[in-house]
Amino acid sequence: MPYRPPESLGGPDETASMARPGYLMLPAIALIGRPNVGKSTLFNRLIGQNRAITHDRPGVTRDRMYGEVRRAERPFRVVDTGGIALDTAGAPGIGPDGIRGFEAEIMSQAQEALQEAEAVVLVLDGRDGLLPLDKQLADLLRQSGKPVIGAVNKVDGEEQEDLLAPEFHALGLDIIPVSASHGHNFNVLLAAMEGLLPEEGDEDSAPEDRSELRLALLGKPNAGKSSLINALAGETRMIVSEMPGTTRDSIDVTITAGDGRKYTFVDTAGIRRRSKITDSLERYTVHAALTSSKKAQVTVLVLDGEEGVSQQDKRLISLLDREKTPFLVAVNKIDLAPKGAMPEIRKNFAHALSICSHVPVLYISALKGKNINAILPAALALWEECGMRVPTGQLNRAMSEALAKHQPPVVKGRRAKFYYMTQSGVRPPTFVMFVNDPARVKPSYLRYLEKRLRKLFGLDTAPMRVLLRESGQDDSRRRGKSKRKGKK
Ligand code: GDP
Ligand code: GDP
Repeated sequence: MPYRPPESLGGPDETASMARPGYLMLPAIALIGRPNVGKSTLFNRLIGQNRAITHDRPGVTRDRMYGEVRRAERPFRVVDTGGIALDTAGAPGIGPDGIRGFEAEIMSQAQEALQEAEAVVLVLDGRDGLLPLDKQLADLLRQSGKPVIGAVNKVDGEEQEDLLAPEFHALGLDIIPVSASHGHNFNVLLAAMEGLLPEEGDEDSAPEDRSELRLALLGKPNAGKSSLINALAGETRMIVSEMPGTTRDSIDVTITAGDGRKYTFVDTAGIRRRSKITDSLERYTVHAALTSSKKAQVTVLVLDGEEGVSQQDKRLISLLDREKTPFLVAVNKIDLAPKGAMPEIRKNFAHALSICSHVPVLYISALKGKNINAILPAALALWEECGMRVPTGQLNRAMSEALAKHQPPVVKGRRAKFYYMTQSGVRPPTFVMFVNDPARVKPSYLRYLEKRLRKLFGLDTAPMRVLLRESGQDDSRRRGKSKRKGKK
């Protein structure tokens, strides 16, 4: 039943949440669809409050409802356009027939709602089936260019999916069967909605300067970091910004590369001083390294090719990997490698880096300038890959393919059942897979899936996160119990 907000614009809850600072800064997702498909039921479930709103005003009114979805990992606003209420008093069902004559009204309201939202969920009614007005709405949404998913509502359990959902694929949208009133697949929809939101960086207070890349240069003393900066700077002007009053740690060095782009190395204290060895020895702690890498977009770890990978290097590598830091490795001093030794050296480094085989490894000589021109473009390419978004259709095809190639092993007598996959974010690309029982997915199988997906998506060098979330017949019953399991 369409709700009626009490009197004025919005209701009391709305007023409360709008008063929260930052509320209007949250990205908004609009729920659009024909009357009676279940938009307000879905809205209520999303905002997690039970509103008991009666409607007793006859005729057609238009209202919009706003609410904040706090249970999402990233909060967002949801806009319900359910305000077209048809006076159905005494009418036997208002489904397909009831909307006759109101199409233009419904379209124009969808248009309005669209304007104030960053993304849209087109709510469809699995029981009514696909109607011409649904197609018109889908066309409108597609033309807007905003991210859209189709939620086929009133699919009250998994067993109804094959019966009610398939015909909606004709809309050419990513389709998720859900039950707003029973909760079936609700978590899947929620994650998919999060995946529609603009990149987190996009709404940061300071917009990202795309003409500058911030780099952290890590590596133990004498690995060749200062030689590398000097070699990279070459003829170009090197700007050293030493902020008065700050510690030496915050010295940044900016160079302008041939492509006109600026590359800033953060926290370069000590790198330019010659008598620094004892000083930096004590500072080359894993902790300090991580702090620097957090200030940067991409981290370059310089290793001494002559010495190989030290224990401390290893610790740092596994931490960078665990933190999902975009990083690349520069193996320096290859000019010292004896003739013919390179294949063996490459093999040894590849072995030492096998825990993160996606990390690019460059073999360079800072002293001789060998291969150093590859570093900045590799860092930039890595950063760009971190922002990769995989088109939604491709995601589930990839998942099916990966599952078919190697089906999940039997764990405790049963195989895990995978339902859907969605991308919930970028930097690093983060994917959520919905599984009936995440405990049945072994880390080794998760690693296989990650590897396979990397291949299918062309995600070669960036860190990536694959999360498992529990999903089943009735997501609402499991709320709060939902297990999350990250990789490693
Ligand atoms: P709106 O006009 O799009 O906002 O639709 P409502 O949320 O008011 O829902 C219309 C009708 O569909 C109401 O009678 C709801 O109880 C019913 N409904 C909503 N969601 C579901 C669902 O998931 N399954 C079933 N079986 N009925 C639902
Ligand atoms: P940092 O402590 O990491 O900044 O290392 P430096 O850049 O100061 O280099 C330490 C020592 O290694 C210096 O004596 C450099 O001349 C030497 N070095 C740096 N890069 C190379 C290289 O590519 N080949 C060789 N043979 N020596 C290098």
